[in-house]
Amino acid sequence: MDIKSVHKAKCHCGAVELELTMPNGLEDPRRCSCSMCRKRGAIAASVLLENLKIIKGEDNLTLYQFNTMTAKHYFCKTCGIYTHHQRRSNPHQFAINVACLEGVNPYDLEPVKIYDGIHHPKDTINL
Ligand SMILES: [Zn+2]
Repeated sequence: MDIKSVHKAKCHCGAVELELTMPNGLEDPRRCSCSMCRKRGAIAASVLLENLKIIKGEDNLTLYQFNTMTAKHYFCKTCGIYTHHQRRSNPHQFAINVACLEGVNPYDLEPVKIYDGIHHPKDTINL
C-alpha cells in the first residue's frame, strides 16, 4: 500500500476532495463498534486536524451529529459517501475513511482491529 506523505482522498462522485498530510502513513486504522460506525462500516484512520484540507467541495459536505453532538460526521450530499469526522474521543483528530484514499483498497487492510466504541471512554463514569 503506497501512502504518500501528502495523499488525496475523494468521495465516490468526486465532488469532495481532501488533501491529507500523513507523514507516518496510515495511522491507527480501525473499525469501531459504536452505534454510528457499526452501521457505516468504514475503516477509519487518524489525522491531526491541521493535516486535513478540503480542497474541493466543502459546500457539498453535509454534517451529521447525534447523542452528545460532539463528533462531527461529514458525508457528500451527492453520493452519500462518508469522508471524515472530527472525533469525540479525541477532538484534536479527524478520522478519515480509508476507502476514500486514492489507490487504496480497504480490503487489503483486513483484519482490522475493532475499537470498543459502544463503551465510549467519555461515557464511562469513574467512581
Ligand atoms: Zn460525492
